[in-house]
Amino acid sequence: MTRTPRITFLGVSDATYLAGINTSVLYAGQATVLIDCGPSIPRRLLETCDNPEALDAIWITHQHADHCFGLPTLLLSLRLAGRQRPLELMGGPGSSRFLRELLELGYPGSFRPEKCFAIELVEVEPASSVERFGLKFSTARTQHRVACQSLRIDDNERSVCISGDGKVTPETLRLFRRADLVVHDCQWAARASEDHSSVTDLQPLFDEASISRLALVHCNHDERQAIAERAENLWGKRAWLPIAGEVCDV
Ligand SMILES: [Zn+2]
Repeated sequence: MTRTPRITFLGVSDATYLAGINTSVLYAGQATVLIDCGPSIPRRLLETCDNPEALDAIWITHQHADHCFGLPTLLLSLRLAGRQRPLELMGGPGSSRFLRELLELGYPGSFRPEKCFAIELVEVEPASSVERFGLKFSTARTQHRVACQSLRIDDNERSVCISGDGKVTPETLRLFRRADLVVHDCQWAARASEDHSSVTDLQPLFDEASISRLALVHCNHDERQAIAERAENLWGKRAWLPIAGEVCDV
């Protein structure tokens, strides 16, 4: 039986707003997948779910600290809480090596097979998909300072996409096509940036990719009001700014 995907916005803040929580999403459906794990996420995740076996996979969009520097802490805490099941660490091209190095840098030797549950590194190539846990994982690269891999998760009925950081590209517009929900970086109301999206930048999600709903995250804290007003003017209830801890059934 298909379980309708439930999205929990663990955090929605940008990289340096220290009173906020790093942008991260928990997908719970056929499987439970954490997307991104900044330094403030291990504690937030524990408050949401204290079962160390709950996660099936973690997808890391890119190697900026606010998206992955919580990973060594989270995995060590899962190990010490007694996790036995394997855990898949997923990402785009090149992610395996980077994630292995990040774990070793954080806690040298602590994730060796004889000490720790199995950590399986899975890379998804942009033009292909990987089937795991009855879900289909696909990816495409955004426009961002470092390579950032957006994620699309399809079950038999519903599709959820998470951009990670950056601006839309022809590839991500194809990836997001007809998605039920896209969770997208929207740092600015209108400012032009090479690295992050503004509300205006995201119009093609509706016009070209024909998505249904849009959750705006990674918003600059001082611009949240302006972003919300602009988004409502353009898209009405099809778009919104979730707050940290908010839950959404897709
Ligand atoms: Zn980034």
